[in-house]
Amino acid sequence: MKNPPDIRRIDGLTVEFRYSPRRKSAALLIDAGRPVILLPAGTPDGVGESLCRRFRTRIGELLQRHAACGIYPPPEYRIGGIFRWLGEAYPIVSGEPDGFDGECFRSHSTDPAVIARNMERGWRQMALRMLTDKTFDLAERNGIAVASVRIGSAQTRWGSCTSEGHIRYSWRLGLCPEPLVDYVVAHEVAHRRHMDHSPAFWREVAALCPDAARKRRDFQKEAMRLSAWKGTK
Ligand SMILES: [Zn+2]
Repeated sequence: MKNPPDIRRIDGLTVEFRYSPRRKSAALLIDAGRPVILLPAGTPDGVGESLCRRFRTRIGELLQRHAACGIYPPPEYRIGGIFRWLGEAYPIVSGEPDGFDGECFRSHSTDPAVIARNMERGWRQMALRMLTDKTFDLAERNGIAVASVRIGSAQTRWGSCTSEGHIRYSWRLGLCPEPLVDYVVAHEVAHRRHMDHSPAFWREVAALCPDAARKRRDFQKEAMRLSAWKGTK
């Protein structure tokens, strides 16, 4: 039987260590969007971690370059897989209680169907909480009325707003880096003043969201990168 992958969280990075008897020295690669450190079999524990700390900046640069062109790999619902939240990757580890604790996603079960269910429930709950808070905060600070915030699972529609003030977001927004989430929230809240995409609407977005034009471009790229990334429903 294959050993489970050796994935650790080091200095804010999720790193996988792979050991090979054929390997003579350490090497670094980005595989499916995550850093992997290749090590000779029998490398003492701790060597990989200290290498990772020493090359932290280099790994960050490589990841950024990779993200600039790559599409995120689809989710893997397994121990050793990746849980994405707000643009960061966290390891899925076995443990209890099931759910995300800010450092890793725990699962009591190794069954992919159970992990998938728990991860998607986690994403929806976290997205609903985060997007409700952000939307009402921004609206209240600017004297704008919002009737409700709901979460859906649209794959290409990230947010929508009705003329009665009901805002709906896709839970997949929780996968995007937070500044881009803030842009989408500002976009929907701005629709409470303008139900179109007129110049006046874009001025409202700019007033609600610092650096909105750049975030909008970044968000469009991010949305493309997440296109391969559908979840199970
Ligand atoms: Zn719009």
